[in-house]
Amino acid sequence: MSEEEQEMITKVEAPVYLKYNFTAGSAPTRFLAQIKNGVLAGQRCPKCLAVYIPTRGSCGRCGVPTVEEVELSDKATVQSFTIVSIPIPNNPIEPPFIIANVVPDGANVSFIHLMSECVNEDVHIGQRVQAVWKPEDEWGYSMDNIRYFKPLDEPDVPIELIGKLTVTGEEG
Ligand SMILES: [Zn+2]
Repeated sequence: MSEEEQEMITKVEAPVYLKYNFTAGSAPTRFLAQIKNGVLAGQRCPKCLAVYIPTRGSCGRCGVPTVEEVELSDKATVQSFTIVSIPIPNNPIEPPFIIANVVPDGANVSFIHLMSECVNEDVHIGQRVQAVWKPEDEWGYSMDNIRYFKPLDEPDVPIELIGKLTVTGEEG
């Protein structure tokens, strides 16, 4: 076979995997232990009263340790979202699907999760949603215990109130 006849190779797939372990630390350990029980556990800053989830063990605004544990609702409000239209490698979910930042009731920060049982075009900021959990016997130390969030038939939360403190704390 001459050089001209040789098929041009334009791409070689070389999957690289990196497996690593890290130490969760005391605050995330508490969070993970609680989610295994089906509980969303946040922690409140003693100074500004902000409630964080998942917990990091300190308040990023005030720089003080957070100790008080707060059990949060699995109802939440959509703070932002994106419609994913392109497939993600190794992700079994068929696009288009929605990834949303949701603020659980009682918390002041959001976390990212999947939305489902919804019309993608109808999802909006301020929308009320609730967690749909896996069966209890499948619960582990993971946020995956929640399959996804689904819309609730409740009035929207005004944008300016999403994640805001309802009790005024000392500003840091
Ligand atoms: Zn604080």
